[in-house]
Amino acid sequence: MNTDILELRSGERGRWSRPDTPLTACVIWGNDYATGVANLGHQRVWAICDDAPGWSADRLYALTRPEDKPTSWDWGRPLGGFDLVLASVCFENDYPALLDLLAEAGLLCDHTERRGPLLIAGGIAPSLNPRPLAPFFDAVYEGDAEVILPLVLERIAQQPPRNREDAWSLFAELNLYVGALGNHGEYRLWTSTDDVYAASETIHPAGHFGETALVELGRGCPWRCRFCAASWAAGGFRPSEPAALRGQISEKMEHFYVERVGLVGTAVAEGDDFCELLVWLKEQGLRATASSLRADLLTEETAGLLVELGQRTLTLSAETGSEELRNSLGKGLSDENLLAAAKAVERAGARYLKLYFMYGLPGETDADLKAVGYLVSEIKKRLRRTRLTVSASPFVPKPHTPLADVPLLNEGELRRMRELLARELRRAGIGSFSGESPRQALWQAALARGNEDILRRYRSGESRGRLIREAVNRR
Ligand code: SF4
Repeated sequence: MNTDILELRSGERGRWSRPDTPLTACVIWGNDYATGVANLGHQRVWAICDDAPGWSADRLYALTRPEDKPTSWDWGRPLGGFDLVLASVCFENDYPALLDLLAEAGLLCDHTERRGPLLIAGGIAPSLNPRPLAPFFDAVYEGDAEVILPLVLERIAQQPPRNREDAWSLFAELNLYVGALGNHGEYRLWTSTDDVYAASETIHPAGHFGETALVELGRGCPWRCRFCAASWAAGGFRPSEPAALRGQISEKMEHFYVERVGLVGTAVAEGDDFCELLVWLKEQGLRATASSLRADLLTEETAGLLVELGQRTLTLSAETGSEELRNSLGKGLSDENLLAAAKAVERAGARYLKLYFMYGLPGETDADLKAVGYLVSEIKKRLRRTRLTVSASPFVPKPHTPLADVPLLNEGELRRMRELLARELRRAGIGSFSGESPRQALWQAALARGNEDILRRYRSGESRGRLIREAVNRR
């Protein structure tokens, strides 16, 4: 194991697992350690496997690992030496690195030739469309891991499948997507029975959120933005129960011996008790940050409390500059809401305000793109101490949403729109902005709506550009 990895491992605080059970699982992540250790989905899957009777679990990060054979994070065990390899995947763009990892471990082959550990994939990206990964895994689960994985682990522990065919039958019986049998799965949602959701299992200063214990405030979203998989696939809003959430936060603070909590979720400030939670955090002498909030929920009180708790950057998803287009997407936010939120951020004394936009939306015109520049300049006028930053990425239609089947714009058109947007933003005083490139977004879109062949063809040498063009031309 190289020194960097040894240093990362020794700096971790939290769950420590040992291979002292009859069965072992390795949870693999298709990106680097910094993103994996900051992802509650990945950590949750690891904990479920490690806590299941008869099982213990390790992890492996595709882009942070020794250069020779892929070996697991804590135990240094080759991937082929586990009973189960479980991929937790959030982003379609991580698929290639994940498959490279399996190939290097000698585990990437067609169903009939497969030997060694059982392979299962899950997470939001394959849940939305299991087909691209299905040829490379024995099964793909769709929906919340908490519903499905404990059943899978229990059944394997009770009676380990005698062969691959037995395993596929078991997975099909449990309603997973099983490519080898042509069995379509069922999307399942979990509502917590102990009133709280996922929280950090381990933390590391090198993680994206540093020494912060992350706590999920709930699942789903009460809004129905027509582009948003978090709402359409993840189900109705299921918030944590306030008292149970506080108990969970206290426990994590003590466990990790940290004083900063990251409040994570799709609908962070929904519910009357968000400000009460922030006041409570302040009374406990803690620091906190929250993910992006809806502009109509970012009041002066909320912004003020977040800044007092140490949040330097507040983020708002404006989506687009035109109120009409924004509302056709079901966002339900006026320009006035955004301007008022910007004012609140300024009054609170936040160091940065970050605005998120999309472009390439269905029905979007050049006038709508110019409206982004206008809105940004109006927001800028309301900021004196707070610095404004902008992120703009191409719209990616996601399965399970009402916009799933809208035609994709070609790369040239997206580049033109990006240039127009850049010009308008420069006029508004924003010299540069971050965001996904048209190529990255189109690759994500092609994988999000791809079939069983897309990754097979990619691995056999067909270019991303060609596969993207096919996806664009398929109407
Ligand atoms: S408010 Fe945010 S999380 Fe909720 S549906 Fe809209 S975009 Fe998705």
